[in-house]
Amino acid sequence: MSLLRVSNLKKYFAVKRSAGEILMRVPQKFVKAVDGVSFEINEGETFGLVGESGSGKTTTGRLVLRLIEPTEGTIEFDGVDITRLSNNEMRSFRRKMQVIFQDPMAALNPYMKIGDAVKHGLEIHNIGKSEQERRNMVLEMLEKVNLQPEIYSRYPHELSGGQRQRVVIARALILKPKFVVADEALAMLDVSVRSQLLKLLLDLKKEMNLTFLFITHDLATTKYICNKIGVMYLGKFVEIGTYNHIYKSPMHPYTKALISAIPEPDPDIMSSKKRFIPEGEVPNPINPPKGCRFHPRCPFSMSICGSVEPELVKMEDGRIIACHLYKSN
Ligand code: SF4
Repeated sequence: MSLLRVSNLKKYFAVKRSAGEILMRVPQKFVKAVDGVSFEINEGETFGLVGESGSGKTTTGRLVLRLIEPTEGTIEFDGVDITRLSNNEMRSFRRKMQVIFQDPMAALNPYMKIGDAVKHGLEIHNIGKSEQERRNMVLEMLEKVNLQPEIYSRYPHELSGGQRQRVVIARALILKPKFVVADEALAMLDVSVRSQLLKLLLDLKKEMNLTFLFITHDLATTKYICNKIGVMYLGKFVEIGTYNHIYKSPMHPYTKALISAIPEPDPDIMSSKKRFIPEGEVPNPINPPKGCRFHPRCPFSMSICGSVEPELVKMEDGRIIACHLYKSN
């Protein structure tokens, strides 16, 4: 059963104009950060979002949590379109929807002890009958993320990067959410800590039946945690499929390019014969190319690609792809 259903989600940010431009009535321009994405995540599953920086991954994560307001589209969470809710009505949903950010040092108040930081959400949502009960809940949560009880009275700067990220995970999960956005949650950690925390997230996901939106540029990680992966380019999905679709037999030229850029060889990943690196830079999102947004960089570009935008179509093997090279089954 789907817990989150996102339909035609768009976020256009207005580009700041100078006083002179306003006087000259220069038309308002927009960065189309997210431009009509649709996807759903079943309860207990993980949907991965991958793509280069500027592809719209993080904006999508913020939109589904309603940390920013969409320009257009709907976000159904647990059967309710949360884009229609007032801030007050969102309160009960906020408890069920949590986020783990990339930088734990920035996410934690340096002047707040760890115990107080983890407890804060319980206080905001009025959970626990007494101070002692809340303290016990924090200690139990710290234990779940493999932190010692002494951490309770320490400050963030006294902990290692891995410990701080465990605290951020504890703070998100103490509210017993149903849904978690992990936005580059493991990106700042070294390889061995990253794999320990990935295992921790997998264990907690199972134990607490969590549903994840997992945003990452570390493609290898998605192998272990994602049921489905959406590849984004300039605010749109170009391919959505399973790990096997995306990594072993990518079809969209941009997906192939993204996989080609993985530095470490992985026997699971597509054969090196099919690899290529696209030419040129990512185009300006204020004025994205007409037709297929990837066409100026695509070695397979045809005349139709510069004028007609390819629609997402379902292939025989179940993946979804937006490219004129492929017709739906
Ligand atoms: Fe390349 Fe055309 Fe496919 Fe775009 S639609 S990825 S330009 S072949």
